[in-house]
Amino acid sequence: MKKIGILGSTGSIGTQTLEIVRNNKDLQVVALAAGNSVSKMEEQIREFAPRIAVMWSKEAADILRTKVADTDTKVLCGMEGLLEIAVMEEMDVLVTAIVGMIGIRPTIAAIEAGKTIALANKETLVTAGHIIMPLAAKKKVSILPVDSEHSAIFQSMHGENRERINKILLTASGGPFRGKKREELTEITVEDALKHPNWSMGRKITIDSATLVNKGLEVIEAKWLFDVEPEKIQVVIHPQSIIHSMVEYVDGGIMAQLGTPDMKLPIQYALFYPDRRPMEGKRVDFYELGAVTFEKPDTDTFKGLAMAYDAIRIGGSMPTVYNAANEKAVALFLDKKIKFLEIYDFIQGAMEHHKVIQKPSVDEILEAEAEAYEYIDAHRRS
Ligand code: NDP
Repeated sequence: MKKIGILGSTGSIGTQTLEIVRNNKDLQVVALAAGNSVSKMEEQIREFAPRIAVMWSKEAADILRTKVADTDTKVLCGMEGLLEIAVMEEMDVLVTAIVGMIGIRPTIAAIEAGKTIALANKETLVTAGHIIMPLAAKKKVSILPVDSEHSAIFQSMHGENRERINKILLTASGGPFRGKKREELTEITVEDALKHPNWSMGRKITIDSATLVNKGLEVIEAKWLFDVEPEKIQVVIHPQSIIHSMVEYVDGGIMAQLGTPDMKLPIQYALFYPDRRPMEGKRVDFYELGAVTFEKPDTDTFKGLAMAYDAIRIGGSMPTVYNAANEKAVALFLDKKIKFLEIYDFIQGAMEHHKVIQKPSVDEILEAEAEAYEYIDAHRRS
């Protein structure tokens, strides 16, 4: 029996992870955590009977505790609760499917405790990759990618000598606005931006896909996961999202992983690695598909990607500022307080304003996050 904890169990990745648990009787859920979705969490507790459930706010935890008083699940709240899950003795794998930088501390704690990490929460690696990857190596802990592109890269490296990698080809659907120019994006609504052509995901990452910031975050995530310099990571627009990413080797040979766009595949792969378990679902029918196409990303219009390369080249705390400014700006856009293109303006402004700290500690990362938030608050008012 493999025992798993899920941070972010009520979200897109979290609920798909639980679908996999339903279909694999040798997986057991020992812990769940969410933000404020009390009713969803109650349903999950009744179905999966975790030992611990965490809600971010105390109020939500108090309500949940009353609702599930007839169960054996212990209800906790806040960072303390997340950290308690991270180090649970009986847990083998922690699925980090929380959204945002809140995942940093629990991920570090779980690695310290020797837990395998199935990592969806890319913001953690983007901001604290320089802490997490060396720590995982020291503790001999596996960080298994859940992000479909990184899972594809990981799968394309099997049995290969990593020193023979020439470059990583990170594919991107291009999002709902592919082909549009800047002047066509000025009046984009939240509803337009939430219509992803191929993937069904949480709201924040769906907006990130529309701005190409998601691809920028993935470039930084790939740098840390696979120890490859950003110049060796090439983003390729592939609108059909069938090739989930590729690796080119020094002899020109390219290995790729393909499949129907379905996050359950990379999640399940991470949970059972190195095994492959059967999974129901639509298969790629190459006769029906006919063709796959590729394009160069338009980084003048979708500046999110170019800014990510700048952030990672500058390094230190700059990727944190890129990520934090984006988190805040996307939240404002989702609340209809700013326009779509202003997301780029706020990221750029926060990055220009920031004084870089090399090798930031967790506290310094969180300070850089707070500074980016303050920058946006100050410049929204002015
Ligand atoms: P969702 O917004 O769908 O879900 C986020 C989850 O995190 C929810 O369960 C939410 O709870 C929980 N959460 C939010 N804040 C807190 C908090 N402070 N404490 C505890 N739990 C919290 O996000 P996704 O599932 O789309 O994405 C999760 C992560 O995975 C992100 O980092 C994303 O970039 C990454 N990812 C997602 C992919 C996808 O297909 N969705 C693909 C690849 C990576 P509540 O419901 O209560 O708000």
